[in-house]
Amino acid sequence: MTSPAQRKATRLMRAGAPAFIDGTAPVNVPVERTSTVRFESTSSQAALHKRREAGEAVSTYGRHGTQTHRALEAAIGELEGARDVLLAPSGLSAISLVFIGLLSPGDHVLMHDGVYGPVRERIEPLLTRLGVAFSYFSAADGLPHQLLQANTRLIYAESPSSFLYEIVDLPALADFAHEQGVLLAADNTWGAGLLHQPLALGADISIQALTKYLGGHSDLMQGAVSTVDAAIGQRLREAHDALGLSVSADDAYLALRGIRTLPVRLAQHARGAFAVASYLQRVRQVTRVFHPALATDPGHALWSRDFHGANGLVSFALRDADTSLAAAFIDALQLFSLGASWGGYESLALIAPPRRLRTHSYWQGQEAVIRLHVGLEDADDLILDLAQAFRSVLS
Ligand SMILES: *Cc1c(COP(=O)(O)O)cnc(C)c1O
Repeated sequence: MTSPAQRKATRLMRAGAPAFIDGTAPVNVPVERTSTVRFESTSSQAALHKRREAGEAVSTYGRHGTQTHRALEAAIGELEGARDVLLAPSGLSAISLVFIGLLSPGDHVLMHDGVYGPVRERIEPLLTRLGVAFSYFSAADGLPHQLLQANTRLIYAESPSSFLYEIVDLPALADFAHEQGVLLAADNTWGAGLLHQPLALGADISIQALTKYLGGHSDLMQGAVSTVDAAIGQRLREAHDALGLSVSADDAYLALRGIRTLPVRLAQHARGAFAVASYLQRVRQVTRVFHPALATDPGHALWSRDFHGANGLVSFALRDADTSLAAAFIDALQLFSLGASWGGYESLALIAPPRRLRTHSYWQGQEAVIRLHVGLEDADDLILDLAQAFRSVLS
């Protein structure tokens, strides 16, 4: 039904569409809720189990998903350019799946120092207890030759980084990893698959929190792990099964529904974010704006080379501000809600936790940083709101 010559947005509208039965088909895949899968006969049961054991994603039990899940996996496969896609109950569980599925006691992981905070704060202690060691590299220091160990099995990067959007040279890191016989996994939540394809740039594994832009409406927790490598896919599938990771059909449906409008939502988020970022650059009380689509951003050249656009995230540093001044600024905002996460239609503001900024070598400033998620509101209204908050708190 699809040809490779079609562009991604075109393929995304069709991926996972239900087949015709008796000459008709719904537009959307049915939400197929079930725990038990019924078999027509013992011989069809045996045949399906055999296909499942051969690595095919067929359903023999509700935990393994239904046609709703298969449709979502197909659509994410289109987005990421993946062969195998595994769904997880959250973005963080998708990341844990990669670490638990691919690492053993005695192994070593090299991590980008700008990764999502809970990876350091939650996954690292768990894996350390299980005998895995961690080192952190700064993407600005070039390739991490010095940190590589004989037992390094995995390099883990997030590009752009959380809060500050440092761009990692993923193709160079992939070449480096493969020369050393090490796997490269990338967190692709920022790029949502549409803006960035780590697998095409050489990564072995791409991870997304579907909670963010794929869900798109702040009503969903979900994650996905994608790979082009059949052997890695099989190892991850075994760990996925052992951990019993299961996503409801309702939630799989919501993520798939989100994918259908992803191109238009992302384009609008990016337009709004660029307008807000450009405004912030002109504000006297702002010392630095972090957003890779700005020509002045240090990652702009790499971003232009490796990404197809930006999203709604913009962070900025407030001149001479401690966190209490930043808190007063956020409390003065009317159109931005205060809340974690991002990717929904609504605008959000949050103080970047200073302890997390301190572990990210990208920026050494001491002033408070505020992260904005620019939603789908009119950007001029958002800018007016920011302007009144600057006036009321910092004049
Ligand atoms: C939010 C986020 C996650 C975690 O996703 P959850 O669904 O909230 O668990 C992982 N990585 C990045 C970059 C994120 O922004």
